[in-house]
Amino acid sequence: MSGKYEAVIGLEVHAQLQTLSKLFCGDSTTFGAEPNTHVSAITLGHPGTLPKTNKLAIEYAIKMGIACNCEIELHNYFARKNYFYPDLPKGYQISQHTTPICKNGYITITTSVEEKNILLNRIHLEEDAGKSIHDIYEDATCVDLNRAGTPLIEIVTEPCLQNSDEAYQYLTELRKLVRWIEICDGNMEEGSLRCDANISIRLKGEKKLGTRVEVKNLNSIRNVKKAIDFEIERMINVVESGGTITQQTKSFDTATDTTFAIRDKEEANDYRYFADPDLAPFHLTENFIQQIQSSLPALPQQLIKSLQEKYLLSEYDAKQLCDDKVTVNYFFATASENKNYKAIANWLIGPIKQYLNDEGTSFENIFLQPKILAALIQIIDEGKINFSVAATKLLPVLMKENIEPLVLAESLNLIQVSNVADIDIWVNEVITAMPDKVAEYKKGKKGLIGLFVGEVKKRSKGKADPKLVTTLLEEKLK
Ligand code: ADP
Ligand code: MG
Repeated sequence: MSGKYEAVIGLEVHAQLQTLSKLFCGDSTTFGAEPNTHVSAITLGHPGTLPKTNKLAIEYAIKMGIACNCEIELHNYFARKNYFYPDLPKGYQISQHTTPICKNGYITITTSVEEKNILLNRIHLEEDAGKSIHDIYEDATCVDLNRAGTPLIEIVTEPCLQNSDEAYQYLTELRKLVRWIEICDGNMEEGSLRCDANISIRLKGEKKLGTRVEVKNLNSIRNVKKAIDFEIERMINVVESGGTITQQTKSFDTATDTTFAIRDKEEANDYRYFADPDLAPFHLTENFIQQIQSSLPALPQQLIKSLQEKYLLSEYDAKQLCDDKVTVNYFFATASENKNYKAIANWLIGPIKQYLNDEGTSFENIFLQPKILAALIQIIDEGKINFSVAATKLLPVLMKENIEPLVLAESLNLIQVSNVADIDIWVNEVITAMPDKVAEYKKGKKGLIGLFVGEVKKRSKGKADPKLVTTLLEEKLK
């Protein structure tokens, strides 16, 4: 970014709550069903129907609020937001208006430069609209109303992000959090998580916000980043060449990585909000909120701390393990069987993660039992097998078959040789076979020790205990 300007970004994220039924009726929320098969008269808002609020959706919204350090509003009501659009069957959307269920709060992110709290303005509940589909017929648009009425929370930040990197980290954290507390599957491709990015620029030092552009319905974190970068550069060019920014609503074109205007935005839309007369206001008790709070799992930020303090892991390891709840739970399960916490972290972040990636799967589907991993680490620590043989020869088998690692190592003839007499023979062979190198070593080229160790390793077919080999070699070459 050119030095004179700074960017200001505020993000609105819609997250579909993973309840089985819709926000105000029993229609299923299943993704991918035959179009217009989960559409009752209530979803269509036919006269005489009455909506009824889904309690679980309210609980989920409160969960997110607690996880984001928000204040929870006790006295709530739903309003009708009136507008016309083909995917909005009732002609209005039921949403919270003046009293969002959660206020303020923040999500902590770590960028390459700092740790920062991204401030939230609010989290409110609302229902989703249906979907217009433009690519089935050339001359017609289809409407699928299955999604209409699905519960959403909208998570709105203050205009406090400064660049696309912060936006990227924020969305990564947010997605991790909704999955962690199991309120949304976080799947951006399927639209369970959608982001609108509001972007403006201003001169550095200026307090007033600049005119903003809103890029709607971004469906991947990478596209959010690209859209922000594109807009910032475009806006700077406009201002630098003497133009003014117009307030616009835009879309992102994934084919060209650019944005295009879908409408110029008037100052404020008139949605004629009013309290929905068919829905009674809902009041929460402190006790109800307390119960939800105690049902929450430990959150990533807490676990990252505890992994460092109680398990003495590095910040890096702790964060890697807390990438998702399944991985960190796997760590804890293994740690209850084996106290070598650092080794467990290394296995999970290293060879096991690699193996799962290569197989195109994840910890959710891991076959290896924590007990077996604990036993594997134990036989390494006992010197029965070395790490690299364990990682390359045993792990691929253990990821598919339930065998005691020691039994497997024995059956594959991989048990490490740790008795001096056996190793002595290989060491002597190597020393006799390489007289020139030995002479160089004795003259001071100590780096050659690696070569000798490697030779012994070869002769032992990887089974000689490398520590013992090094000690013996060093003694004999003194
Ligand atoms: P709307 O509902 O019309 O989109 P809001 O006032 O709720 O408007 O703001 C939506 C988002 O836009 C918020 O995240 C807010 O922080 C952000 N925002 C508002 N003004 C600006 C601005 N000038 N530049 C960048 N972001 C902004
Ligand atoms: Mg908006």
